[in-house]
Amino acid sequence: MEKAAMNIQMVDLKRQYQKLKGEIDQAVLDVVSSCAYINGPAVRQFQASMEAYNGVKHVIPCANGTDALQIALMAFDLQPGDEVIVPAFTYVSTAEVIALLRLTPIMVDVDPHTFNITPEIFAAAITPKTKAVVPVNLFGQSCDMEPSMAIAAKHNIYVVEDNAQAIGADYTFSDGRTQKTGTIGHIGCTSFYPSKNLGAYGDGGAIFTNHDDLAQKIRMVANHGQARRYYHDAVGVNSRLDSIQAAILDIKLKHLDAYAEGRNRAADHYDAAFKDIPHLITPVRQHNSTHVFHQYTLKVTDGRRDDLQRYLSERSVPSMIYYPVPLYEQEAFKGFSSTTHLPVTHELCEQVISLPMHSELDTPTLAYI
Ligand SMILES: *Cc1c(COP(=O)(O)O)cnc(C)c1O
Repeated sequence: MEKAAMNIQMVDLKRQYQKLKGEIDQAVLDVVSSCAYINGPAVRQFQASMEAYNGVKHVIPCANGTDALQIALMAFDLQPGDEVIVPAFTYVSTAEVIALLRLTPIMVDVDPHTFNITPEIFAAAITPKTKAVVPVNLFGQSCDMEPSMAIAAKHNIYVVEDNAQAIGADYTFSDGRTQKTGTIGHIGCTSFYPSKNLGAYGDGGAIFTNHDDLAQKIRMVANHGQARRYYHDAVGVNSRLDSIQAAILDIKLKHLDAYAEGRNRAADHYDAAFKDIPHLITPVRQHNSTHVFHQYTLKVTDGRRDDLQRYLSERSVPSMIYYPVPLYEQEAFKGFSSTTHLPVTHELCEQVISLPMHSELDTPTLAYI
């Protein structure tokens, strides 16, 4: 196949849509003709499907993943100056909402192999002011939640999982029990941004919890702080998943596990192809988490990451750097975070490169890449 004809994408939303076109088009038209645009039956249906899929008691849909994180933190009644532990190697949202709420982000380093914070890193950052931690299940696999939850319980710290990149992954406890990522912390948050593993055709997000009291508070915060219409008990926000997106997501959720299988097939292909290349480190797969490969992220350890990216680009292979700058170096966080250097985060920002990864990558395309 000609490389131009392949038209390789980081994420191929078009082919995924074409496979479900009939069903999705009908569902969208049904919402349009029902006129139930806000909190309609489609939203309740998706909520129930997501609860069943995740094995979680409460799913509260909202407008996007960033809102989900903000609402989660608002549900705890934290005070300005309370400390929230967050990895410095993540998407901006995770730390942004902490700063926005005038809480203090305590940025911590990550494990160089899994890209996630570890229970040891979490424990070492705890102070008397620590009220919450936001572990990020980066690139598609779980943080080590069992010991993290034990540490959190001991110090009375809330755990909010940022599961925007790992929806559908399973974490295995020491007794062999498994649980979906995002349902292990007190609250879990996810995003349905189109390129996420479960992507809408616009913005969307959701909050997961097994705690009834937190679920009630989250629903209230997400709905202008009201439990009863026009009676506002707290200052909240307006954050809803719209009915059209919910109808689309309810269809796509049925295929989420198959999408993860497709991503794993692509990852296996990459792993086999790259395993003997010096200075190229393939992703580590943890023993206690499945990987849903939101990203397939290599480390280039000889300092030639940018050369590799240029080389790929000249041959029509897209790639991305997630993430090029540690959060503590971002201008926005200068006034919020006292962290100035974290060695692993610093190194990862110079070494990582993510290759095309989606459910529709076929063998000829993978072979070309
Ligand atoms: C995508 C993402 C978010 C934010 O989701 P939006 O829906 O874009 O607001 C938050 N955290 C992580 C780790 C993400 O990848």
